[in-house]
Amino acid sequence: MNNNNTLVKVAGSANVGNGTEYEPQQQANGYLQPANGHNLHSDEEKIRRISGYFTEILHVFGLDPTGEEMSATPRNMATMYVKEIFGGLDPKNRPVISTVNNKYHYNQVLLERNISIRSFCAHHLLPITGRAHIAYIPAGKIMEASQLSELVQYYCSKPQVMEKLITQLADELKSILEMEDIAIVITASHFCKQLSAGREANNDLVSSFYSGKFNREETRNEFLALIK
Ligand SMILES: [Zn+2]
Repeated sequence: MNNNNTLVKVAGSANVGNGTEYEPQQQANGYLQPANGHNLHSDEEKIRRISGYFTEILHVFGLDPTGEEMSATPRNMATMYVKEIFGGLDPKNRPVISTVNNKYHYNQVLLERNISIRSFCAHHLLPITGRAHIAYIPAGKIMEASQLSELVQYYCSKPQVMEKLITQLADELKSILEMEDIAIVITASHFCKQLSAGREANNDLVSSFYSGKFNREETRNEFLALIK
């Protein structure tokens, strides 16, 4: 288990109800974030600089970045990358996660199925689309389904490879929910693989992660039956 996604309780933060809020101390490995957690550049500064580079790329292809068709393209692309596609590189965009107490002492499988995956591969910066199924067996804390989806989307909003995404999610959920019993299956289609394998190729890549009680055959089979 890696400790790159260390979570800390934020003292004195505005909690809702009995929930507990968290924020990351540092971004996950592979991302060059300043250690203090703040970005060096504002979004506007990033968009301005990246627009300049995209303009240059259009020039290299012999395209006209001043013509009617593409005059807005560099800025559109830069805005999309900064605000959406790689928005997860900026810790300020991390959703505020709160948990509720498991007051009914529920100790069976809790599953969120078909969470949408929209990410970009780290190797080609091309789209990855798919879905995730995430289950856990709560100990003292439970997380709202909508928050789970937001957390997944945050981790998808950076250059990703599936093994890293699935491990980051598992580590994050273990920390937030203070338990070890997690099962995750991600089924994803990579645009780069489709292009290189021929445009008709439509194969999915499946990644899975099991820990704690999901290493027991019976519990894992229950999970697999539920996501069929
Ligand atoms: Zn790729």
